[in-house]
Amino acid sequence: MHEFSAACSIVDTAVEAAKSNNATKVSIVNVEVGEFTFLVPEQLVFNFEIASRNSILEGAELRIKTVKGRLLCNDCRFEGESQIDPNIPNQIAVFAPMKCPKCGGSSTKITGGKDFVITSIEAEIAESTAG
Ligand SMILES: [Zn+2]
Repeated sequence: MHEFSAACSIVDTAVEAAKSNNATKVSIVNVEVGEFTFLVPEQLVFNFEIASRNSILEGAELRIKTVKGRLLCNDCRFEGESQIDPNIPNQIAVFAPMKCPKCGGSSTKITGGKDFVITSIEAEIAESTAG
């Protein structure tokens, strides 16, 4: 359900953006997805196709760019890219505290990569008939 609610949110935002630009059909939606969302790109694309049915987005391609998460460590003040332990499955990593890649401490704060944003939308714009 995680991917489905994310897909619905992307669809809603893209539909609003397309409408406000007088788009008649959306062909591509570009999104940046943070590492800490733990969204699976394949699942997100699949759910996007379902969520976009019967909307202006139907048949549009969802292009996903994954963005690295960022951490701030309370122990050593390290701030930078996270390193997700490849031995921990995503389902568990969602709930586990992120370890500092520098000192190994788990007193960390996530400072980036927790959300997803639409970076651009490619759409067909209705020709103005005013005149
Ligand atoms: Zn640290």
